Amino acid sequence: MAFDLTPTAAQHDLARRTHEFAEQIVRPVAAEYDQRQEFPWPVLEEAAIQGFYSPLFYRDLIGDPTGLSLPMFMEELFWGCAGIGLAIVMPALALSAIGQAASPEQMLRWAPECFGTPGDLKLAALAISEPEGGSDVRNLRTYAVRSGPGADADWIINGHKMWIGNGGIANVHVVNAVVDKELGHKGQALFIVEGGTPGLEMVRKLDKLGCRASHTAELRFDSVRVPAENLLGGQDKLEHKLARAREVVAGAQNSGSATLGTFEQTRPMVAAQALGIARAALEYVTEYANRRIAFGAPIIDNQGIAFPLADLATQIDAARLLTWRASWMAASGVPFDRGEGSMSKLAASEVAVRTTEQAIQTMGGWGYVTDHPVEKWYRDAKLYTIFEGTSEIQRIVIAHALGAADGKPPLHVDLEPSGGPLNRWFGRGTPLRTRAAGAALSAKDHVPEPLMRLAMKALRPPRR
Ligand SMILES: Cc1cc2nc3c(=O)[nH]c(=O)nc-3n(C[C@H](O)[C@H](O)[C@H](O)COP(=O)(O)OP(=O)(O)OC[C@H]3O[C@@H](n4cnc5c(N)ncnc54)[C@H](O)[C@@H]3O)c2cc1C
Repeated sequence: MAFDLTPTAAQHDLARRTHEFAEQIVRPVAAEYDQRQEFPWPVLEEAAIQGFYSPLFYRDLIGDPTGLSLPMFMEELFWGCAGIGLAIVMPALALSAIGQAASPEQMLRWAPECFGTPGDLKLAALAISEPEGGSDVRNLRTYAVRSGPGADADWIINGHKMWIGNGGIANVHVVNAVVDKELGHKGQALFIVEGGTPGLEMVRKLDKLGCRASHTAELRFDSVRVPAENLLGGQDKLEHKLARAREVVAGAQNSGSATLGTFEQTRPMVAAQALGIARAALEYVTEYANRRIAFGAPIIDNQGIAFPLADLATQIDAARLLTWRASWMAASGVPFDRGEGSMSKLAASEVAVRTTEQAIQTMGGWGYVTDHPVEKWYRDAKLYTIFEGTSEIQRIVIAHALGAADGKPPLHVDLEPSGGPLNRWFGRGTPLRTRAAGAALSAKDHVPEPLMRLAMKALRPPRR
């Protein structure tokens, strides 16, 4: 599958429907949910009715072989509001973790529980971070131990989780816990903890700077008992994983580092969300700068206003290209050897912060008050340099990849070429083509024009 920017009809339709949903359903209520810091249940209900809130929807998106449906959906939705967007997509994060760890039977059991159905909505959460371990997931201190001998004994979970989206209000919590202290972060496993399980306590809902329509909480696990079948992947897979980890530890091999590569595949999705915020702000402020008159002319006539916007438009497009490339790589199974997932998240999150900040500057006093949405977009954008790996962590991943690549050429040089031997033989800039074109040029005065046109058509370089 070649990387191609032309959308398919299905992608085009998805982007249009999502944009309409964002414009007509999300935008009109975004400020209200932000101010009240309230979970947007009616919007989720409408998303479910329109087909944007279900495991089958994500199966469709993930099934797109070009990889572009997911970032297109994310960008359009988050153009509407990042807080409401997060409330809508949070179960997909949990679903993605279940998809990576669970057995097929567990996937069938828990995927519907993450979303529910219109009229009976459900929520899911992915609980990894802890007060002492956000970036450094080696430092996790939530432990799971067996309540007795035998593979069918329950697990008992004790610990503390922080900043958990949908935490405490979710029907399904996917919880990361240490099962073997000696193995560090390699001795962790994922468990399903259902909402309402005794011992699972929501300590508090966190009061946030931005993305306030989404629910984020601190959780405590006090002897939370879960059945053996809630261990994702099951006992045999866990034993196998631990045995491999012991070999790595015994051999003192480098076992990778912190969060570092863990979320590489999901980072382009988060990057696309940040792009939605950046695009919203750029569009809004460009229109404002065209209308706002100062000293007798629209402010956009000043290079001091127009040039930063031109730079941001360029950087947003560059970040989108990185994001789509990473999404295409994930769908095509091309390994992220150069930290391409992190590159997309780093570029998109940082341009979102710069764009929203410049949007406020461009609007002056109007940008600083809640009459316009740009101050909210500024608060929302800041989250993106923090969660799913901070900007510093993205730089570490890219730097490690650079070190490991050790002079490797850029990705396109390494990719398997498409097209057959004829394509290569006649190629572009080959001696054969140069000779043929030279012969055609010297013959052009003696050959009838239709024949010449035909010859030039045959000499045209291959399309790919
Ligand atoms: C609103 C919100 C929602 C969230 N949702 C979820 C969720 O649903 N589930 C979940 O599990 N987590 C969630 N998180 C947690 C988030 O992923 C962490 O906050 C993030 O990974 C950073 O971890 P930390 O806060 O512990 O910061 P720290 O790891 O303590 O980092 C503090 C600072 O030090 C820097 N730093 C750390 N190590 C290094 C290093 N080696 N080199 C250079 N700089 C370094 C960091 O970049 C950062 O600037 C959420 C967070 C927020 C704010």
